[in-house]
Amino acid sequence: MAKDLMQAVPGIDQLLRLESAAPLLAAYGRELVIESLRVVTARLRNSLADQGEAALPGAANEPILEAAGRYLAGLMMPSLKPVFNLTGTVVHTNLGRAPLPPVAIEAMTAVARGASNLEFDLATGRRGDRDTHLEPWIRRLTGAAAATAVNNNAAAVLLVLNTLARHKEVIVSRGELIEIGGSFRIPDVMSRAGARLREVGTTNRTHPADFEQNINPKTAILMKVHTSNYLVEGFTAAVSEPTLGAIAHRHELPFIVDLGSGALVDLTRYGLPHEPTVAETLGNGADLVMFSADKLLGGPQAGIIAGRADLVERIRRNPMKRALRIDKMTTAALAAVLRLYTDPDRLIERSVTLRLLTRAQADIEAQAYRLRPVMETALGGAASVEIVPCRSQIGSGAQPAELLPSAALSIKPPAGRGSGRSLERIGAAFRHLPIPIIGRIQEGTFLLDLRCLEDETGFLAQIARLDVGGGNS
Ligand SMILES: *Cc1c(COP(=O)(O)O)cnc(C)c1O
Repeated sequence: MAKDLMQAVPGIDQLLRLESAAPLLAAYGRELVIESLRVVTARLRNSLADQGEAALPGAANEPILEAAGRYLAGLMMPSLKPVFNLTGTVVHTNLGRAPLPPVAIEAMTAVARGASNLEFDLATGRRGDRDTHLEPWIRRLTGAAAATAVNNNAAAVLLVLNTLARHKEVIVSRGELIEIGGSFRIPDVMSRAGARLREVGTTNRTHPADFEQNINPKTAILMKVHTSNYLVEGFTAAVSEPTLGAIAHRHELPFIVDLGSGALVDLTRYGLPHEPTVAETLGNGADLVMFSADKLLGGPQAGIIAGRADLVERIRRNPMKRALRIDKMTTAALAAVLRLYTDPDRLIERSVTLRLLTRAQADIEAQAYRLRPVMETALGGAASVEIVPCRSQIGSGAQPAELLPSAALSIKPPAGRGSGRSLERIGAAFRHLPIPIIGRIQEGTFLLDLRCLEDETGFLAQIARLDVGGGNS
């Protein structure tokens, strides 16, 4: 009986010859279509074994090909895709950090399409250097004598330490031995760079004498790390950059600063909290400054090293530079973003990151009022929707406190037993949309901070597809 049922499952060859298999073959190619038919017919045999004749309708040609089509569509769906970042963290490392401005995307596309003069000097017809596309802009914007760029700021720190302090000592304040996002820890990077860390001072207080007294013949550099993702408050003391620079220079040692996010312009002019700028840090005596291009700067993932020409030259000659270099698309995007900084008056409109960071609360709130009725309809009574004030944060270590007044849709399941699970289910429903919507759970509600919602049309276009289960289906 079971055996007879199995006879109902058509063979792969037979299925491939069907006319309705042609579109699948055209879209996905023979190998994948065969894979899909094997998977679907194997499942079918399992169903027949379990359910007997009840599963028989699935064994017809058309249902099998339809199931194969669904399998293939799912398989070929890109796993990396756009999402709506409504977490309230503007520069969100797990969500890809800074959104790029259109000019950067156009610049990337232009060089991605074919050959470019990435390392080719068009004036002489000889070999060029990819840094020439970036260095003049970084020099202009920071006052640095020289600059180069690598894969990210972690790579920048690694490369600087390896170049200047291999087999030697680096003096850092104990209060600055930070960890960022679990995978970047100053002590670990230091040892991988082949440098020895000499921690001085205490967690909360470090004095100039702590540095002075620890300088010895093995000392290679003095280093300062911008403690971007936490605050030491209360009875604290840190050595200022000018003082540290002066101590280093008195001993003829370079003074380097890992600025983390860093900024190229004074952000207070846009009403944002002050972040140390690269120019300020260099002005305070830093010989090299390392910072990320995809944090506050609002560019693609890269790490920039700016400062003294002789030191940058040594860094360029380190074979590790080659392993850490950036590609043509990043170079193109970064150069385009850097050019935007030449006009700080219009930067806010042009840099997507700064535009989002400076969005007025009233504007965000007005958007919340527009979206609320649509959201209520989509949720169909499964949860209530309120408009609440909230605070967004810059993210990626810049200014750890939540500072930016914003507005959110607060989605709340009915109170009572299982409301925690309902909250999880609501979050999951938003994540399962074609363009996933990522919010945050806070004090018993699912919060959508609208600060980063620019594509309102795209958001609305899919919200009707929300399926929170229960109430609306
Ligand atoms: C973010 C950060 C880094 C790491 O930068 P990536 O660009 O993520 O590699 C290093 N140091 C500090 C102080 C940071 O804030």
